[in-house]
Amino acid sequence: MSEQRILLVEDEPHLAAGLKLNLELDGFDVTVAGTAREAAYQLVDPRGFDVILLDLMLPDLDGVAFCRRLRQSGNFTPVLMLTARDQPEDRVAGLEAGADDYLGKPFDLDELRARVGSLLRRQTWANRRTGAERQVTTVGRAQIDFDAYTLTVDGEEAHLTQLEFDLLRYFAANAGRVVSRAELLENVWHLSNHPNTRVVDNFIVRLRRLLEPDPAAPVHLHSVRGAGYKFVP
Ligand code: CA
Repeated sequence: MSEQRILLVEDEPHLAAGLKLNLELDGFDVTVAGTAREAAYQLVDPRGFDVILLDLMLPDLDGVAFCRRLRQSGNFTPVLMLTARDQPEDRVAGLEAGADDYLGKPFDLDELRARVGSLLRRQTWANRRTGAERQVTTVGRAQIDFDAYTLTVDGEEAHLTQLEFDLLRYFAANAGRVVSRAELLENVWHLSNHPNTRVVDNFIVRLRRLLEPDPAAPVHLHSVRGAGYKFVP
């Protein structure tokens, strides 16, 4: 098996060099990009990357904007956002832009390893399952394969980030029950006591666009006034 490839987008040279060294000792093939422009250049490499570690504060473009462009360009490589500003708003902005996880600086190297490992495991499980083992759930006109992280709508494959899939999976596991925004933030985003529940609503809008025949009159993802959401497959 070839080495798993990490793209490290970080403009602080000492931090980048230290991380590269440690991750290479763990057996990863690490490419460092000091700017968003350089990262975009590296991403043209057809071998692709297994994980992107993305600094929030880059000299030419902020990480949130970079991540949004990446997703818009159809690249769904797992992104772990590294944020120096330990503000919940920054984390939420990163997750909304399509990042899969975040880690506040300064971070512990073992925690970084654990987060990277978790993102890679989810990818590997998805690739390893054979067709026979897969369970496909049908929701309206959408077919969801939770193992492969694929969602097919009217025969066309739609792309979701891991976080969007995790949200959908949580709804599927709690079908028919009203779940509050706080519960979703805690269990899907791993944000406890987070005051901004709007982030959930933005994700719901996106899921409805994919799942609902008429997103303005939802039949699968119901809003329950003052309580949260209820998923009916
Ligand atoms: Ca930086």
